[in-house]
Amino acid sequence: MKNKRVLISGAGIAGLTLAYFLEKNGFEPVIVEKAKSLRDGGYMIDFFSSGVHVIEQMGLLETLKDRDHGSSIVNQYTDKGKKNMTLDISAFRDFQKGKLFNFLRTDLVDILYQKAKDKVELRYNTSIVKVEEDDSGVLVSFNNGNQEKFDLLIGADGIHSNVRGLVFDIDNVEQLFLGYYVAALEHKVPLKIKKEEVLSMTIPNRQVMTYTIDESSLEHNSSVFVFKTEARLPFMNHNEQVQLLQKKFETFVSPVPEILETAGRLDHIYFDEVAQIKIKGSWSKGRTLLIGDAAYCVTLLSGQGASMAMTGAYLLAQKLTESNGAHETAYDAFETELRPLVESLQKKAAKNIGSYLPSSRISMWVRNLLAPMLFTKPFVPFLMKQLGAVNFFEEKK
Ligand SMILES: Cc1cc2nc3c(=O)[nH]c(=O)nc-3n(C[C@H](O)[C@H](O)[C@H](O)COP(=O)(O)OP(=O)(O)OC[C@H]3O[C@@H](n4cnc5c(N)ncnc54)[C@H](O)[C@@H]3O)c2cc1C
Repeated sequence: MKNKRVLISGAGIAGLTLAYFLEKNGFEPVIVEKAKSLRDGGYMIDFFSSGVHVIEQMGLLETLKDRDHGSSIVNQYTDKGKKNMTLDISAFRDFQKGKLFNFLRTDLVDILYQKAKDKVELRYNTSIVKVEEDDSGVLVSFNNGNQEKFDLLIGADGIHSNVRGLVFDIDNVEQLFLGYYVAALEHKVPLKIKKEEVLSMTIPNRQVMTYTIDESSLEHNSSVFVFKTEARLPFMNHNEQVQLLQKKFETFVSPVPEILETAGRLDHIYFDEVAQIKIKGSWSKGRTLLIGDAAYCVTLLSGQGASMAMTGAYLLAQKLTESNGAHETAYDAFETELRPLVESLQKKAAKNIGSYLPSSRISMWVRNLLAPMLFTKPFVPFLMKQLGAVNFFEEKK
């Protein structure tokens, strides 16, 4: 086998999955993670289609079922707390035959980590600062001053990928801003919602979704804020982010002010633009390849970013194994097979923004009227198609 020593940048969903399968297939992966521990996410994710297939290949389906939050009802209120819609989402679960889950991103990362940790070297507080390639491999310089040679380098370091910045031509990378920002945090503001219930407070261009993580104490919750802006925002520190959220959501009644007050007392929250990554030309350059959000972020609007990160990781490990480590062959096959699907998911996600978060009162009214009907059994296959929810591995057969 050629090219056994593989450096992976990023211990996220793609990085941990890739490391697990590479090690299983005889490679020697090393992961570097810039954070001092696994990154906390603060937000809930839906998980279905191809990602579940990969989870099954890892023998983690039952573990995942244990972590499933089981959300089945969305109760939507206005900013003033007036209920205006209830969505029963159990038809989606039925349609996926018990293979649709929702859980904290942190939970998924944790189960992937538990699977890989005894077999894969993971170095925290470590980031790559320089990459030099020659015929024999990739010479990598780290932020701690060390240098090391690897056979291959994989950038699995998320939407703001460091590897992409170091290796790829910036003119070939488009970070397509979709006009929204997202913020997320876990908090202890007491709420009286059941575990299966999602509390949504939504007005045109602004939305807060809140989940109770720990129903017994009612004091472990997660909230995600989404809002629209005309243009990209300048860099903001934590206080500025919270102040902006307080301004954007100033008309929202309890529990939103309390949640944002809590946010102000934390040292950070998740805060980022909603953007898609589109790379002109190839996802690889020489011995370096990008996977997951680093190469093809599909955004939360697709509901499949985590699933595609795992799909990419599994497929890449398969291609490297089949080609006996011949990276050019493996990288080409990987991209040829996966790219059409992620490009289609990106198109669909961009098109679906209006129904995810309407921008006018009238479109909101129409959505609130139609959605309860569309979330029923006869329409769910159509909605899943709109999302592009296909099992990549089934389609490939
Ligand atoms: C609010 C929200 C809701 C979402 N909902 C869903 C959903 O419902 N369903 C779904 O499937 N997806 C969802 N997603 C998308 C999903 O979270 C991402 O697509 C997924 O996490 C991408 O995985 P990844 O491994 O590519 O990147 P990440 O999970 O972002 O992991 C990247 C890792 O790289 C590390 N890193 C960064 N820079 C460096 C560096 N310089 N050196 C070393 N390491 C570095 C990071 O610390 C992190 O650990 C949502 C996203 C958001 C923000």
